[in-house]
Amino acid sequence: MEIFKKLEEYDYEELIFCQDKSSGLKAIIAIHDTTLGPALGGTRIWDYETEEEAVEDALRLARGMTYKNAAVGLDIGGAKAVIIGDPKKIKSEELFRAFGRFVEGLNGRYITGEDMNVTTEDMSYINRETNYLVGLEENSGNPSPVTAFGVFKGIQAGLNELYGSDDINGKTVAIQGLGAVGWPLAELLHEAGAKLIVTTRDQETIAKAEEELGATGVGLDEIYGVECDVFSPCARGAIINDSSIEQLKCKIIAGSANNQLAESRHGDILDEKGILYVPDYVVNSGGVINVIDDILGRKYNREKTLANAAKIYDSCKKVFAIAKRDNIPTYKAADIMAEERIAAVRKVKSIYNK
Ligand code: NAD
Repeated sequence: MEIFKKLEEYDYEELIFCQDKSSGLKAIIAIHDTTLGPALGGTRIWDYETEEEAVEDALRLARGMTYKNAAVGLDIGGAKAVIIGDPKKIKSEELFRAFGRFVEGLNGRYITGEDMNVTTEDMSYINRETNYLVGLEENSGNPSPVTAFGVFKGIQAGLNELYGSDDINGKTVAIQGLGAVGWPLAELLHEAGAKLIVTTRDQETIAKAEEELGATGVGLDEIYGVECDVFSPCARGAIINDSSIEQLKCKIIAGSANNQLAESRHGDILDEKGILYVPDYVVNSGGVINVIDDILGRKYNREKTLANAAKIYDSCKKVFAIAKRDNIPTYKAADIMAEERIAAVRKVKSIYNK
């Protein structure tokens, strides 16, 4: 692998390899861009087949974080860390503390948090060695309700764009996944008068949604083809693909799942089909907004956090405006919104100031 060529491709700043033989730690921290501020991105543990695969994943995810963090309108850059190995076998206090010491060594250039296979308990070990981390239970805690609220605002922005009104009352929303985000989202939508069609892996939760939220439960594969105003993917990525895209009968897609488009060309197809795609990393940015107080060393303030998450509505409207201005699909417009903000701030930062 030609590492520098790889870094040049999307202008990555730094790639750090962390090794500690005694704890067995093998970790990679990728810092993509710190124009806006310290680079934030969670740590995941994954049993990569090859080291190249781990590097590719860290780089790809770090770049994604730059765009997501920039689109939120906050002063943070993008990074990601991966720890290589089977999460069932490698986890130990020493491993997380060793990782924490590497994070501490970056002196705030990188701020970490939970991601796949890393739990709150694991984070508490990292925290013994560094304060450059977010999302601890005693600070901002579980981001999911704030993420759900942000998705709710993104759905309103989509409805406004299409129907000229934010009103959710009487609109049909199909939710894929009733987990930490999907469930509170379903509650918010129900309170606002939406008709819900839902699916999730466990039948008990579907039954609960039918009973408590008046939802209609459908099978896992049926959700794509239901007639609805909004399809809200809140389960997993790559669900807008060659097979699902044929079935969609929604007018808007807005959900929390990361990387919803299997390939970028699926964003073009949605555009051609006249389905308004509210880009995933804009609509699900409530999770990042939730940890801002942690980053700035402030006491967590729920009210202010929700007020910030409500601005996801404006960010979505801005994406739609750029899409119209440049005559491009919304997924490209979101990238442009993020790039324009980074370029503007880079310019501001060139003003001399001691
Ligand atoms: P979760 O694990 O709590 O919930 C996921 C739900 O999806 C589960 O209830 C599961 O039964 C269901 N599910 C899994 N596969 C499914 C399938 N094929 N069809 C239908 N349902 C299926 O996860 P979460 O925290 O709610 O996150 C949901 C998505 O949002 C993920 O993609 C996550 O990366 C993304 N996201 C979450 C946050 C957050 O704050 N939690 C922030 C940003 C993005």
